[in-house]
Amino acid sequence: MKKVYICKSCGKVMKDAEDFSGGEIGKDYCSNCTDEFGYRKSYSHIIKDTKEFLIKHLSISEEESEKMALENIARIPFWAQKEKIMLSKKKNCNY
Ligand SMILES: [Zn+2]
Repeated sequence: MKKVYICKSCGKVMKDAEDFSGGEIGKDYCSNCTDEFGYRKSYSHIIKDTKEFLIKHLSISEEESEKMALENIARIPFWAQKEKIMLSKKKNCNY
């Protein structure tokens, strides 16, 4: 059975070499989530990209698209984990 690769950043299924970061099968991230040097894009960058995509394809407002982008990204384990870490750090500051 062929191994299924899922981008750890956006959750996209990667099949062909061109789907992978740097065109290399087996990479953790897809080509969408990395720049041309294979570095993972930042959280804000992915939110921005998702927003632009949603505005373009669903013709919704900036506000709506931001909400959707944030909801979307919260479902991805990689970012959900990050969010938890960020939240726990915030808590530590407050209490
Ligand atoms: Zn990705």
